Amino acid sequence: MDIKRNYEYLLSDLSSLKGVGVKTTNLLKKKKINTIFDLLWKLPKFYTDRSLSSKIKDLKINEVQTITIIPQKYLFPRIRNLPNRVVCKDETGEIDCVFFNSYEGYVKKILPIGKEVTISGKIQFFRNKYQLTNPKYISEDSSIIKQKHNSYSLTDGVSEKVYNKIILQIIEKLPEIEEWHSKEILQKFGNERWNDSIKKLHEPENIGKFNENFYQRLAFDEIFSTFLVNSEIRKKIKKTKKTKKKFDTKQQNEIISKLNFSLTNDQNKTLNEINKDLCSDNKMFRLLQGDVGSGKTIVSLLSAFNTINSGFQVAVMAPTEILTRQHFLLAKKIFPKNIKIELLSGKSTYKDKKSILDKLLNKKIDIIFGTHALFQKKVEFRKLGLIIIDEQHKFGVSQRKRLSDKAGRDCDVLLMTATPIPRTLTMTIYGDMDLSIIREKPNVRKPIKTYSKLESKIEDVINFVKKEIHIGNQIFWVCPLIEESKKIDHTSAVKKSEYLKKLFPHQVYLLHGKTTVEEKEKILNKFLRNDFKILVSTTIIEVGIDFPNANVIIIENANKFGLSQLHQLRGRVGRGNKESTCILMFKSNLSNNAKKRINILKESNDGFKISEEDMKLRGFGDILGFKQSGIKNFKLADPIRNHNLFILAEKEIKRIENEKEDIRKFKPLIKLYDRADIVNDLA
Ligand code: ADP
Ligand code: MG
Repeated sequence: MDIKRNYEYLLSDLSSLKGVGVKTTNLLKKKKINTIFDLLWKLPKFYTDRSLSSKIKDLKINEVQTITIIPQKYLFPRIRNLPNRVVCKDETGEIDCVFFNSYEGYVKKILPIGKEVTISGKIQFFRNKYQLTNPKYISEDSSIIKQKHNSYSLTDGVSEKVYNKIILQIIEKLPEIEEWHSKEILQKFGNERWNDSIKKLHEPENIGKFNENFYQRLAFDEIFSTFLVNSEIRKKIKKTKKTKKKFDTKQQNEIISKLNFSLTNDQNKTLNEINKDLCSDNKMFRLLQGDVGSGKTIVSLLSAFNTINSGFQVAVMAPTEILTRQHFLLAKKIFPKNIKIELLSGKSTYKDKKSILDKLLNKKIDIIFGTHALFQKKVEFRKLGLIIIDEQHKFGVSQRKRLSDKAGRDCDVLLMTATPIPRTLTMTIYGDMDLSIIREKPNVRKPIKTYSKLESKIEDVINFVKKEIHIGNQIFWVCPLIEESKKIDHTSAVKKSEYLKKLFPHQVYLLHGKTTVEEKEKILNKFLRNDFKILVSTTIIEVGIDFPNANVIIIENANKFGLSQLHQLRGRVGRGNKESTCILMFKSNLSNNAKKRINILKESNDGFKISEEDMKLRGFGDILGFKQSGIKNFKLADPIRNHNLFILAEKEIKRIENEKEDIRKFKPLIKLYDRADIVNDLA
């Protein structure tokens, strides 16, 4: 076998490399570097931003930047879980370098007091001070930036020398891979081939050349492979032939006519899209995307109703019992009496559960509501025709695919999410599904008044809360995770609730990370019944639940959240037709950047627009914690900088779909660029 031509060589483990023993392999594994291919993305360390090197006073918050500083003082706290800090300065100002999970010795070694050091990383602003967490590139000599040799980022335990040695030997041995792109696409990147591009990527003089062909091509490969896999999943699911659903929309319209509102244009449009899918003989795999409060529930229930009318059963799954119950009660209210509706609750007795399972199997239940318990093996349906899943934006592509496979041949799938995302990300994150979007909100909504307040002005806030309670309204009080230590967060939320309890006896309850699921449901139900007035919480209150009587939300330490998250939190109120208010509280005066962000929020109530702005300010990984949810992060591609590459990839995918092009030639691309689990399924 000619190893030089074989892309599979790149997927082999590191043991074949010279100078890489068990110890190094294990250290690299910890960094999620398992294959030779993974090492290719280990870029020369000052790769990102030589051109952005700045002085402390000119630092831009939330951007990756390089600075040269002199460490002044170590702050090594004695409390576990707190990070080590190093106070550093240059001639224009001060910055704290923060290290999580690092030994003091390590910190001292890379940031020696009094010595000039060049570092890089994402700049944050915390407690009135610049801060840089786990600085990336560290050199004791700022002149190294001009030096012309590769040097790779330090990983605890793996020396620069070792990195240099192994990466350079891989680059020398890079296999000649057959081109996967079409001539037209390749031309757009100056016919730059994959392995030449990789070589150029590792040339120190090419650092930061994002606009060169080699870089663009490699970024495009990443985007394109993601889109391609998504497109394949979508095609495969849609190809599944199913029994068409047959129903008369007359009955649906009767339900609509009895609602105490009329549907918005977008609700009508999306309902039609779903109905069309139900009636087709291709399996539906559709995402209903709409901002908080845009009215997705009614659309999904109407499509459920049509499914039932055509003789099928429906399963509706939501993340919490309370949300499940709300959907269940709404169905009870609007569906005709002959429709058999059930709720499978964690609280149901064994006997009740057993009886429900029997009824499902005998088709004595038309529609069932539940949490993920609905997807246990023992829950079997006689004739399941539609699965609706609410608020599962954290479901990744492979989870969704498994769901659809499990659903069975005749079963359509509808997912719903209240997470508006920028257009470039739609194909990345939801490209495996067809998309229905509700942009317009019910026009009865009054805009939520949004204010910012200094924490020192808490008395004003308390007075406002008193007035609101006096006229019968309820309040959410959010104390977000602020410190690096959960313990401290916990005590600060407890303290706040104690403080509020004194002011508002018997009117305050606290939800925090340690509240049990049952306890939480109990408290939320009490709140829903208006048994108390102020709900303090550390964690984000689940999305989706309608608290029509709560119309004030107070968010402490609001700078801790991204715009999209603040928008989501704010969406907890303003669902009824009352005036509602959102108060964002800050510990200190806002920086200009923070003011800009807050203004976006004050001026707009459009989640899609806010998410675009959020992405521009914070980068894509941070939007609503997509990073944590396991959605893949690109190594080179950047949804802002490479906006045009995303559009190009979308176009190329459409072309391939339309021309029914054989995608086998892309196999190496897909295999290399991860997601092997999905690829195997597709083969
Ligand atoms: P979401 O899209 O966030 O799931 P919901 O479906 O929970 O939103 O709807 C939020 C609230 O808006 C509900 O109380 C619902 O009854 C109401 N609603 C839905 N559609 C309309 C409409 N067209 N006009 C007025 N109110 C509506
Ligand atoms: Mg909802």
